[in-house]
Amino acid sequence: MSLPLRIWHPFTNSAMDLPPLQVEKAEGVYLHTRDGRKILDAISSWWVNLHGHANPRIAAAIAEQARKLEHVILAGFTHDAAEELAERLKKWLAPELNHLFFSDDGSTAVEVALKMAVQHFSNQQRAEKREIAALEHGYHGDTAGAMSVSDDSPFTEPFRSMRYPAHRVHSAYCYRCPVGLKRETCHIECAEQLESLLTERSEKIAAVIVEPLLQGAGGMIVHPAEFLQRVRALCTKHDVLLIADEVLTGFGRTGKMFACDLAGVVPDLMCLSKGITGGFLPMGVTLCTDRVQAAFHSENRRHTFYHGHSYTGNALACAAANASLQIFDDEPVFDCIATIARIHSERLSQLRELHQVGETRQIGTVGAMELRAEDAGYLSAMRPKLYQFFLEREVLLRPLGNVVYVLPPYVITPDELHRVYDVIVEAMQTLL
Ligand code: PLP
Repeated sequence: MSLPLRIWHPFTNSAMDLPPLQVEKAEGVYLHTRDGRKILDAISSWWVNLHGHANPRIAAAIAEQARKLEHVILAGFTHDAAEELAERLKKWLAPELNHLFFSDDGSTAVEVALKMAVQHFSNQQRAEKREIAALEHGYHGDTAGAMSVSDDSPFTEPFRSMRYPAHRVHSAYCYRCPVGLKRETCHIECAEQLESLLTERSEKIAAVIVEPLLQGAGGMIVHPAEFLQRVRALCTKHDVLLIADEVLTGFGRTGKMFACDLAGVVPDLMCLSKGITGGFLPMGVTLCTDRVQAAFHSENRRHTFYHGHSYTGNALACAAANASLQIFDDEPVFDCIATIARIHSERLSQLRELHQVGETRQIGTVGAMELRAEDAGYLSAMRPKLYQFFLEREVLLRPLGNVVYVLPPYVITPDELHRVYDVIVEAMQTLL
């Protein structure tokens, strides 16, 4: 008799974690489970959902597209849904970012950006300019290249030999300032390490990759805008490309459409995914400037960018993205974002007073608190206890170790968001 084929769930240890919850349907911010629970998804299902689960407008757009064209190879072909998406995105992007390359998810959007940056220089007979600099606490995905530019963590530990070397420099983690200063009086001295690196090695460095203003998986670390502005200025000065990984921050998460907009910074390459389809279908997009693309526009076939995934530019995903962007046009999405930001700010200022809370952080729709812990980090013993506590109260929150964060779909109501915070306060009072 053959054994059943078991699903191997990501980030799940079958020896320690409870069996997965069976979700039968979802609507708005709620996940409805087979055993009758109604769980409030306060993390937008790994940060992808914007307009609520099973949003009828996006669902209808996908169904309509499926009846017309589900998918076609994008090498040598194009289709209306992809062209429409390029036009719609253009409206929100800095005019300099005028080339769009499709891929499948956040990790591949990052892989594409890294490879484009390296080939950009190699096509210009500057192949020695191929190294990448990245930030401490950074996270850019789980594929080998994206892991290489992410910081060391339990996620990457077993794969040391698979990661190519990358330079790692300080990030603006003000709560644990890498240069021992205070934000109130500092002058972003944490950026000096990058400055020294670029001064010494810019002949060898192709690109600097950052998560603009918010390092997500590293602990919801919010950077001052001046840090990103300094990074931009340093890249320009040293002829190094700046890659902004907006996979998490894109599509309103930080209060503007893109985090770079908040800092008034235009990167050379930008990576998008997660919220791009409103959380319905996987899709990655890498954008770049004319200058980056020009090195690929060549009479030499070897200068072609030979990178492509089977489902690149999938028509259903494009239709979902178009519908999501139409919702931004038609509905008061940025008002909802502002309301979420206001409630985060109110509730976090109360939580800050609790002795268990080391620091609270917020940017737009992302609210976070770093709890005091002897074993700070992703594997903190607090994490499974808190996760379970929240789930028993029918709230889905997945702390990043000792960092609890709330990152809801934009359709969450004020009452629902207050309920999430009430459960967090209860956890502080009874569990820690
Ligand atoms: N970049 C950032 C900033 C992310 O937060 C993530 C995922 O969390 C990724 C890249 C990888 O995206 P994906 O999980 O879609 O491959």
